[in-house]
Amino acid sequence: MAKIWRNIRGTFDILPWPSVADGTAVPGSSAWQYVEDVIRRTMARFHFEEIRTPVLEEEGLIVRGIGEGSDIVTKEMFVVERGNDRYVLRPEVTAPVMRAWLQHHLEQRGGVQRLYYIGPCFRAERPQKGRYRQFHQFGCETIGADDPRADAEVIALMLAVYDAFGITGSRLRINTLGLPEERKQYVEALRAWLTPHKDTLSESGRQRLEKNPLRILDTKDEREQALLRDAPLLIDFTGEQTRERYESVKQCLGDAGIDFIEDFLLVRGLDYYMHTAFELESPDLGAQSALAGGGRYDLLASALGSNCPAPGVGFAAGIERLLLALDAQDATIPEALPPDVFLVALGDDAQRWAFREAQRLRRQGISASFDLKGRSMKAQMREAHRQRAPFTLIAGQTELEAGVVQLKNMDSGEQVQLSADKVPEHISKCLRDARGSEDSAPVSSR
Ligand code: AMP
Repeated sequence: MAKIWRNIRGTFDILPWPSVADGTAVPGSSAWQYVEDVIRRTMARFHFEEIRTPVLEEEGLIVRGIGEGSDIVTKEMFVVERGNDRYVLRPEVTAPVMRAWLQHHLEQRGGVQRLYYIGPCFRAERPQKGRYRQFHQFGCETIGADDPRADAEVIALMLAVYDAFGITGSRLRINTLGLPEERKQYVEALRAWLTPHKDTLSESGRQRLEKNPLRILDTKDEREQALLRDAPLLIDFTGEQTRERYESVKQCLGDAGIDFIEDFLLVRGLDYYMHTAFELESPDLGAQSALAGGGRYDLLASALGSNCPAPGVGFAAGIERLLLALDAQDATIPEALPPDVFLVALGDDAQRWAFREAQRLRRQGISASFDLKGRSMKAQMREAHRQRAPFTLIAGQTELEAGVVQLKNMDSGEQVQLSADKVPEHISKCLRDARGSEDSAPVSSR
């Protein structure tokens, strides 16, 4: 049997229609377009501008930008080797955006940049529902400002995206990770406190105790969670500056009418975060409950070796999880647009006519489709139905010789004969009538 090539595990195809990959529903491409469109429009309302960075970055950038001890760098990177160069398929977009900011001296354009991105990311995680090896993130970064309002603004923007989709019931948790010195003291205190409880920790908990005890705080293990209820808290190790800043962020969130839960155990997986950290969870997502997360990363620029101060704050969100949340809440996602008209041709001359006429209609902004397989009239009509075309244009040898075509309204079944050279005007009018609009605006919304 001939080999059938398949996509790699943890990746999936987005087809024009809904499909299933590894037991999980994958919405069709029109749903993805809709989602991306709503995200872009929300970003535009906040006047965040799009940045697109390459999918491939130098390995060193990602290692330094995310942190050597992080799970992503130690276990999850897709590395591409070419000669002596080592590249990484980006696991996230904050470090690449910061690279671009530093490389292009974006600080010279007004001091602060409000940027957003949408695109694929890659992590070699164990695939499961809501967790893939190629997934899609959208997010924003405000770079160049350490004003607490910037933190509150990115949180407000993140929530505005989910609001725009009508997603309800999600929970915003926030915390402060303080300054590096404060965190260092806390990590030591936490390690000292946890060490006598080593036996209660899971295998990975014990490893984290050695390498990065902070990571134990976001454990999913119930025994560890119970233990942590009495553990020291980072907030008790913070000084006045951190607390004031944290209070300002909370005040701004309050001013914006944003509800949040303070969670002093919330940490972020990536090393470069400080001060504000936040996460948005949905109760509808099962084990992978995080819709989005983010925080402040004023240390990232210097971790990348820059002397240029570049305080930043942002969030990153998964599109797959957003789609899962939409599905769980039975949200309506607009269907793909059908063609405005399907041309049905009988005979060789009519097939040439269908091709010519489709080009003419398309030039006028009318979307047209036609049969490419020389099928019977019945089969062509079936295809027109399948494509949900509201109108069909039908012609055979006799019609063409008489300079006419038949226009059929697929809803009402009503059929009229038209002069062949009046087709575009007539269809435009029919489409306008069908859409119930009197104005002479462009016919197609495309
Ligand atoms: P992170 O950069 O790990 O904070 O991830 C930000 C968001 O991206 C998460 O809240 C998820 O929505 C999404 N995400 C992260 N990793 C994956 C993955 N492997 N598959 C699908 N979505 C992911």
